[in-house]
Amino acid sequence: MFDKIVIANRGEIALRILRTCRELGIQTVAVHSTADRDLKHVRLADESVCIGPAPSVDSYLNIPALISAAEVTNAVAIHPGYGFLAENADFAERLEQSGFTFVGPRSETIRLMGDKVSAIESMKKSGVPCVPGSDGPLDDNAERSLKIAKQIGYPVIIKAAAGGGGRGMRVVHSESNLINAITLTQSEAAAAFGSDIVYLEKFLENPRHVEIQVLADQHGNAIHLGERDCSMQRRHQKVIEEAPAPGISEELRNKIGSRCAEACKRIAYVGAGTFEFLYENGEFYFIEMNTRIQVEHPVTEMVTGVDIVKEQIRVAAGEPLSYSQDEIIIRGHAMECRINAEDPHSFMPSPGLITEFHAPGGLGIRVDSHIYNGYRVPPYYDSMIGKLIAYGETREIAIARMLTALGECVIEGIKTNIPLHQEIFQDSGFQTGGTNIHYLEKKLGL
Ligand code: ADP
Repeated sequence: MFDKIVIANRGEIALRILRTCRELGIQTVAVHSTADRDLKHVRLADESVCIGPAPSVDSYLNIPALISAAEVTNAVAIHPGYGFLAENADFAERLEQSGFTFVGPRSETIRLMGDKVSAIESMKKSGVPCVPGSDGPLDDNAERSLKIAKQIGYPVIIKAAAGGGGRGMRVVHSESNLINAITLTQSEAAAAFGSDIVYLEKFLENPRHVEIQVLADQHGNAIHLGERDCSMQRRHQKVIEEAPAPGISEELRNKIGSRCAEACKRIAYVGAGTFEFLYENGEFYFIEMNTRIQVEHPVTEMVTGVDIVKEQIRVAAGEPLSYSQDEIIIRGHAMECRINAEDPHSFMPSPGLITEFHAPGGLGIRVDSHIYNGYRVPPYYDSMIGKLIAYGETREIAIARMLTALGECVIEGIKTNIPLHQEIFQDSGFQTGGTNIHYLEKKLGL
């Protein structure tokens, strides 16, 4: 096992990683920007290194500074968390070349999955169901593009191969707009992602977002930990996640999950990963793979009992997975609310001093957050300040516990989206379960 790990992230996920390192007896190095000296995990880590000024390009995205931090502290591995450099193949490659272990898949795999065209191609070969589409990039041949779209049937969606964060996509409802939309998406993609490669797929009108968590080691073992439903979204950003997904049978879970595990074996995947699907009329359609730990991983941990970060670290160190597929049993139901420092109605970020904080508690309640009384939320980063997770033997119990916890939670000095969560958890459509990705925006009148 590793002696010492650099945690190349901030906020709740840095603290989450630190806690598991402690449990494994691994020394920790916190790296932070000048704006983040007071982060909870910086205080708890064995060592800390300031890697640059507040803007993330100069600190959390500063590859030379991160490598020097690992060097001066004699660390052997770097955990990237999520966001920042977590899916940056160049970063993983630099670490491989400098002799450090990147806690994640090989740089080659990150590159393969980072390009959505090659990811889809690879998934098709593994028998993972994909959205009907152009089977590769679109070219300058307008007639060919028109023919493909006609075969698939409108509406279609044009997507940038290098796209991410919900950007670089355009829906086309009729033939007359297709060519113009392709040109526009190509130039936007070139400007935003440095690549003008776009492809086309069927636009599914009312899907749910259902994703499969996988784990794979360096010995050819790969398993799935079931699914999560992340359909409650605003502007393609997840707001609430749950596991299992309402209405998915064990048979369907195992069918799609084993396809994902098989795909991992085929691409020699290592670490934790997520296969994201759109789910409509009982069918799964692969859209992309995330090659990192995800924000919503705790709901899977609650229903399986597996510490996903621990498995990530173990397999990065060359150890085999601690579980075989038949040891994974989904028990009960878990929900997660992303708590953001923002106005619950206008969604404007609300950084500043937390004057009062009381965390909720009780049976089945988990709080993954770095905030404390007197902590100042800096304005430079993502507005998420923590996650509230509720577990129950049934979905109803998890909902009831979440409502109790939301009511107990006190965060003063800044605004948070807790009132929005309370509204959603009392919504009858949400309580029934199985709502699609447009439900929240419709409810909010957006
Ligand atoms: P990103 O990498 O930017 O997150 P994704 O491919 O994961 O892009 O798509 C983001 C979101 O865009 C999906 O969660 C879904 O809401 C919407 N979307 C993407 N592809 C389709 C599609 N074929 N049909 C309908 N909606 C889609």
